[in-house]
Amino acid sequence: VSLLLRRATLPDAAGAAGGPVDVTIDGGRVTAIEPSRDATEATAVSPGPGHERVVDLDGRLLLPAFAEPHAHLDKAFLAELVPNPTGDLMGAIRAMDELGGRIEVDDIVARAGRAVRLLVANGVTAIRTHVDLIEANGMRSLDALLEVRDRVRELVTIQICGLTGWPSVGAEGAAQRAQLTMAIERGIDLVGGCPHLERDPSAANAQFLDIAADAGLPLDLHTDETLDPGALGLEDLARQVLDRGFAQGVTASHCVSLSMQTEDRQRQIAALVAEAGIGVVALPQTNLFLQGHGHPTGMPRGLTALRALREAGVHVAAGADNLQDPFNPVGRGDPLETAALMVMAGHLLPGDALASVSAHARCVMGVPGAVEPLVAGALADLVAIPASSVREAVAMGPPGRVVVRAGQVVAGA
Ligand SMILES: [Zn+2]
Repeated sequence: VSLLLRRATLPDAAGAAGGPVDVTIDGGRVTAIEPSRDATEATAVSPGPGHERVVDLDGRLLLPAFAEPHAHLDKAFLAELVPNPTGDLMGAIRAMDELGGRIEVDDIVARAGRAVRLLVANGVTAIRTHVDLIEANGMRSLDALLEVRDRVRELVTIQICGLTGWPSVGAEGAAQRAQLTMAIERGIDLVGGCPHLERDPSAANAQFLDIAADAGLPLDLHTDETLDPGALGLEDLARQVLDRGFAQGVTASHCVSLSMQTEDRQRQIAALVAEAGIGVVALPQTNLFLQGHGHPTGMPRGLTALRALREAGVHVAAGADNLQDPFNPVGRGDPLETAALMVMAGHLLPGDALASVSAHARCVMGVPGAVEPLVAGALADLVAIPASSVREAVAMGPPGRVVVRAGQVVAGA
């Protein structure tokens, strides 16, 4: 199927807009980029000669499509049903526990489906979601997300990471481990858990590395989601990966307590993380909401140590994490919101912030994407945004985006 995107604007190296171009797409790839032949005159959206579909982008900024490296689709839009009156992490966990798995598959499918449609409309073509495997849920959350993944197969790539409940280590962890084993059999894409909530985080790291290695799956662990500087699960994980080797790829999400170390320790740990090839996902929305309640003065931001990690060469992606649930009652399901927070709370410049929800996110997730600057031969996973520069796109987060995945328009036109 061939597609012609007329009157697109490509950003230059500084993120500003260049002249209008027409982008031809065939077989899921960009085949030609030419100066727009008819730059001033809007033309009807109808098939042109040799193209099955023509979309007039009317000067929209054309960028590689976004990727969401850390979602919880099964919990999306639970905020009304499951309030979190204390507003901290344990409050959210208690609220979910009190629900005791009283959510039906159909309800999860409906809410997760709504979240996926929102993300796709905002320009996302790949999502990594965690799925609760706590005992009370049985396999309901996973069954729901497997169904959603199947239903939206044509729109978006979904990776499902099994989020193991705790305790999961030793004799007391047998039931949670059984849940994870069942989830692996049903087809999760990654193994996950929360070592920082376990009695022995290092033993939990070792266990999850073992289970993932046996299953031949990559690993994505909620790591050090606390401002307690004594939480050093990331350093331990990096050392274990370096000691034993691990073939499938490791992601550490959150890594909040790294920000509470001295600069020397941050650099030392970041170097280990880089050497171990661990990707890090920063999660500004949820960290800003949940962290810092114990620090009424000089409140830390709760983000990981972005600068030390980036300077060490670690791929640092950014995700939106929770979407209007007890862990974060707000959020718009928009990577441009995440990017804006990486600017305001993380001190990144707009172009870097955008890369954290685009190229870096894809790298951490191991999914291919378009290249920048866009050239013939690039994968046609693209988002066109009504904005005159990358900075303005991040600032305004405007609606009216056109989203192309594998050469097909999946939203906005
Ligand atoms: Zn999470």
